[in-house]
Amino acid sequence: MITKHIELQFRHSDGLYIVRSIRSEIYISHCDRDEVGKATVRLIKELIRKGITCRIEAYDSLGPFLKQFRDAGAICRTGLVDQELPPVAKRRITWQMPDTPVPDPPPPVFASWADYLNRTPYNERMVRCYAAAKKANRKRLLSDAPEYHLTGKDVWTVIEAAKGRCAYCGSLAIENRPSHPKTGAPLPWAQVGRRIGSLEHINWRFGGGDNKLTNLAWACLWCNTWESERRKNASDHGGFYPTDKQT
Ligand SMILES: [Zn+2]
Repeated sequence: MITKHIELQFRHSDGLYIVRSIRSEIYISHCDRDEVGKATVRLIKELIRKGITCRIEAYDSLGPFLKQFRDAGAICRTGLVDQELPPVAKRRITWQMPDTPVPDPPPPVFASWADYLNRTPYNERMVRCYAAAKKANRKRLLSDAPEYHLTGKDVWTVIEAAKGRCAYCGSLAIENRPSHPKTGAPLPWAQVGRRIGSLEHINWRFGGGDNKLTNLAWACLWCNTWESERRKNASDHGGFYPTDKQT
């Protein structure tokens, strides 16, 4: 399917600015309003260049950016200041927002890196690595398929070098995303976000980052999603720091 139209929401929440698309994976989150504004202008220009219509719904005052977004070619709808997000958008966003309270996390699935190696069959680990490689090799809306094609073994190299630890907070991040036991449908993950592993592009794909091993790191899903949440030994969202003397 070719995307012809994209809608972005522009929202401010406790010092964190978020631009999130409704119909694709694009989102920008940052504490610095100017940075978000500039990145959004780049995004709009790129979308327009590709023939994609871009609409922005602002839940925050856009200030000087309103003109810049319009000049870049976006259709902006403002006047939503102080209004609630539509329920559908709210459902999609709030459960993984940093400022949303989440219940206490369940106990960790693995006691240490060594415990993970002992209890997870090689094939199961590789299935996960192939899935991460496949995702990283995909063409995205705003970036072509990377020149370097990752293999599952490449991903395992990254995880093994990190001993499953997040490059930013240091939490042991090797659990899978939670899913519904019967249907397999994805469940909210914020509660254990610092324990879920993900492949991180140090220079992100939208910014021209590629799949070379030097541009890859292992990061927990929480730090990967929210740059502003990258705190060493953070104890929120299931952060777990075993001493792991066996490795
Ligand atoms: Zn982390």
